[in-house]
Amino acid sequence: MELRFCPLFSGSSGNALYLGCGDTHLLIDAGMSGSKITNELEKIGLSPDRLSAILITHEHSDHIAGVGILSRRYDLPVFANEATWEAMRPKVGNICERNVRVFETGSDFLIGDIDVMPFAIPHDAAEPVGYSFYAGQSKLSVATDLGTIKESWMKQIAHSDLVLLEANHDVEMLKAGRYPYELKRRILGNKGHLSNDAAGKAAAALVKRGVQAIILGHLSGENNFPELAYQSVCCVLQEEGFEAGRDVMLSVANRDCASGMYVVGANRADQ
Ligand SMILES: [Zn+2]
Ligand SMILES: [Zn+2]
Repeated sequence: MELRFCPLFSGSSGNALYLGCGDTHLLIDAGMSGSKITNELEKIGLSPDRLSAILITHEHSDHIAGVGILSRRYDLPVFANEATWEAMRPKVGNICERNVRVFETGSDFLIGDIDVMPFAIPHDAAEPVGYSFYAGQSKLSVATDLGTIKESWMKQIAHSDLVLLEANHDVEMLKAGRYPYELKRRILGNKGHLSNDAAGKAAAALVKRGVQAIILGHLSGENNFPELAYQSVCCVLQEEGFEAGRDVMLSVANRDCASGMYVVGANRADQ
């Protein structure tokens, strides 16, 4: 089956990703205003009332700013684990009980045609997760807000057709930049964000494990540039003998508007 994926926003100022399969339409995070997310959804031809659900990775505001308004306005179910619900409840306003859906990290569940697997990631939130999505033989994974490379999440997203992978910052730009010391320490820490170089290492390891396409995302507006993230990851891939465009499709998600529509599994005979 065919998965359609479009990052609407991906960056440290806000995140919202669209994933569709047949008549199932998911929004992964809603970290921008409801109206901005609605605008970007409409650009890809989808009215928000057709969304099947919103899935939350963690309670930081760049992932949940528009959740409450979208759920209330369009009567949308919101999926998160218990600890994330507890942490985000005070921030998202009242959400109708029937739309409060709780999952367990590490246990998969079905939403329409898509099998959803939430997996644990190292990040300074209550119980942050990344997601793998399965439909037929197709697999797509979303892994941002990653403090460090860990075998557990690498193993989970291995053999995905497509991965949205965090390339948050250039370490030198961050160190030399104007962020306060504490914030720099947080970002660079084991529960902060993945640098361009670390993303390169993860990308090389993922190519070895059958990943065919990688979109770099969650870029910092302050400590990174799309071209720098792309080139840094290309360099590390090259050191490992891989070439972007030949061994893996590599691209960078837009921070503040919809990126192109990626289609996974279109030519497979499993539909
Ligand atoms: Zn984030
Ligand atoms: Zn975060």
